[in-house]
Amino acid sequence: QSPFLHIPGTPLDPIMALFEAYNHDSRPEKLNLVVGVYTDENGSIPILDSVRSAEQEWFAQGKPKNYRPIEGTPGFRRSVQDLLFGEDSEVITDQRAATLQSVGGTGGLKIGADLLKKVLPDAVVAVSDPSWENHRALFEAAGFKVVSYPYHDPQSHGVRFDSMCAFLRTLPAGSIVVLHACCHNPTGSDLSPDQWRMLVDLTGENDLFPFIDIAYQGFGRGLAEDALAVRLFAQAHRDFLIASSFSKSFSLYGERIGAATIVCGDPAVVSRVEGLAKRLVRTNYSNPPTHGAAIVETVLRTPSLRSLWESELGHMRTRIRRMREQLADALDRNDLGGSFQFIKAQNGMFSYSGLSAEHAKTLRDDFGIYVLDTGRICVAALNDGNLDRVVRAITHVVK
Ligand code: PMP
Repeated sequence: QSPFLHIPGTPLDPIMALFEAYNHDSRPEKLNLVVGVYTDENGSIPILDSVRSAEQEWFAQGKPKNYRPIEGTPGFRRSVQDLLFGEDSEVITDQRAATLQSVGGTGGLKIGADLLKKVLPDAVVAVSDPSWENHRALFEAAGFKVVSYPYHDPQSHGVRFDSMCAFLRTLPAGSIVVLHACCHNPTGSDLSPDQWRMLVDLTGENDLFPFIDIAYQGFGRGLAEDALAVRLFAQAHRDFLIASSFSKSFSLYGERIGAATIVCGDPAVVSRVEGLAKRLVRTNYSNPPTHGAAIVETVLRTPSLRSLWESELGHMRTRIRRMREQLADALDRNDLGGSFQFIKAQNGMFSYSGLSAEHAKTLRDDFGIYVLDTGRICVAALNDGNLDRVVRAITHVVK
């Protein structure tokens, strides 16, 4: 008898389930505001010019497709650290961090989770309420107990920072706290610089282990601004982890490119931590794929491509901001019994719009507009061609 017979049905996570429903929807006017993908003015996923040039350069070199080092190439790893900490930052000159190429940001989280399971096997992992759906699942799959700390405040549409801090103070020493560096997914609400400073102190005083997820660097306020949390924790000279994703910032979703970075208070332990992380990779998928990393490395290490990329990233960032402004102002003009100006204060691709599960269902059933039941909208999928329709549909379901 097949051992698979005993597998109970495994549900997809809500995002993937809705994405499948969207794919099966035959209405031509259907609109996907579910998945976290940036689309341009024409509704297409852009291939950045910087990426295209790097690819051409890479192909022209005609390099053989050898295995890559388990941890990725030195140039890639250095570029990741430059982006995170700033070039010539103290972490880099003191060699206090180890970076490994990973299979997307998810892979970076997974390397980090497996590593932490080895050194903090009994730790509780705290994720924000709400958080990216996969955080809880991923840390549970790595064997951790996962709890949620207060984060979203539905009244103010901001962060319940006091409750968050109060909760974190109750966690046992050695607990792991997963933090979104910028462009919080799903709410769009980020901590202020002062709140980050308080959190650096709080985690230090309570011996909590920070794990920073940075999947949207450059989509919030700017490359350096969005890395503030990472840089503040680095200045505190303690151990912490970072998972980087380049899926969004390079529009390289399917290339699965990201990184895990382990920062150590003491440079003497870095090589040991890196050795353990490499062992985990080796016994999981052996070594990482070439293409995405080669592109990211080429763009970041070629000054002309790097500045082109920064301007392309800036364009995506400003376009999303413009969509936020137009969405908020258009909804407010329709007098829906409350202001939507909070959408402008949020960062990144997503907005917790305040729409209910019932609203989401009507949007889906009656208008072919797919948003998550939590009311999360991907603002990065709005454009001048679909905004009016979305505003009209939301107005219809809310009024
Ligand atoms: N963390 C967060 C907060 C995300 O939103 C995402 C992507 N949706 C990831 C990690 C994973 O990124 P990747 O697609 O590069 O694995």
